Amino acid sequence: MSRWTVGVDRAACLGTGMCTSIAPDHFRLDGGTSTPVSPEVDPDDAVIDAAESCPMEAILVRSADGTVLAPQP
Ligand code: SF4
Repeated sequence: MSRWTVGVDRAACLGTGMCTSIAPDHFRLDGGTSTPVSPEVDPDDAVIDAAESCPMEAILVRSADGTVLAPQP
């Protein structure tokens, strides 16, 4: 299964905790901002939901070939 890459722009993150609530397996708060638990994950809709829900669009999810999966422009 091809994996996804997950990144958080910690300069943009406001630490709302939305992503850690939606996808606690994939994001955790560290020093007031979110960080991915792992930079590579097996495909999981919760990661997409978290990225779409981030008010700052600070979460970027890409497929293995680099295509941006979320957030949608
Ligand atoms: S939802 Fe966005 S702003 Fe809120 S903690 Fe997660 S990455 Fe940061």
